[in-house]
Amino acid sequence: MTRRKLIAGNWKMHGRRADLAWAANLTGLLGAAPRSDILVCPPATLLPLMSERLPDFVATGGQDCAAELEGAHTGDISPLMLADMGARYVITGHSERRHGHGESDAVVRAKTMAALNAGLTPVVCVGETLDQRRSGEAETVVLRQMLASVPEAAAGRVIIAYEPVWAIGTGMHASPEDAEAMHRAIRNAWRDGDGEQVRILYGGSVKPSNAADFLSRQEIDGALVGGASLDAESFASIIRAAG
Ligand code: PEP
Repeated sequence: MTRRKLIAGNWKMHGRRADLAWAANLTGLLGAAPRSDILVCPPATLLPLMSERLPDFVATGGQDCAAELEGAHTGDISPLMLADMGARYVITGHSERRHGHGESDAVVRAKTMAALNAGLTPVVCVGETLDQRRSGEAETVVLRQMLASVPEAAAGRVIIAYEPVWAIGTGMHASPEDAEAMHRAIRNAWRDGDGEQVRILYGGSVKPSNAADFLSRQEIDGALVGGASLDAESFASIIRAAG
């Protein structure tokens, strides 16, 4: 089974108008369309501007969305609004939302469902804390999160990002072997359709120096890149590492 790789950048709460030159820089560095799918998730304020500056082969996405399509939800952004601004994907359940904003699996599931209803492809994040890994619970926690965060009827239409919480923004990363084992466990536990078809990204301190180690692995279908995606040169180098 060949799954197309996806290299996704998450800018988090970074980026203002002056940083939009990134789009032209990345396009210049890549030249022609690479073999992998490419996605960048800038802050929502830059989404329309970024979407119109990038070629078709670089998709844009939101970093989070509301669990509803419309209504009295001050400050929230509907996935329909993201789609209207050019987004094709949206991240749901990032650990900074789960831990920083108390989002439960049920909330992540509702957001993921709303994203699907808006025609977006959700990138659903799951991952264990350091304590959970040390106590041998990593796989149990991740599979429980995955099964509770992915709506059943929609399982074939989402992308999963395995992001150990302790590896995000810390410079520490899972070993490619541990990441592969977790991806395999997720595939085996997939309940709706064929787990072999599900694209599973690794995220957590992916950089140009370690990208090839992850991206050359059979089980790893791409990367969700935070810090290193802010620099067009680093992001392009990670994209090149995907082949
Ligand atoms: C992320 O934001 O999802 C992430 C993995 O961040 P970093 O690459 O900086 O660890």
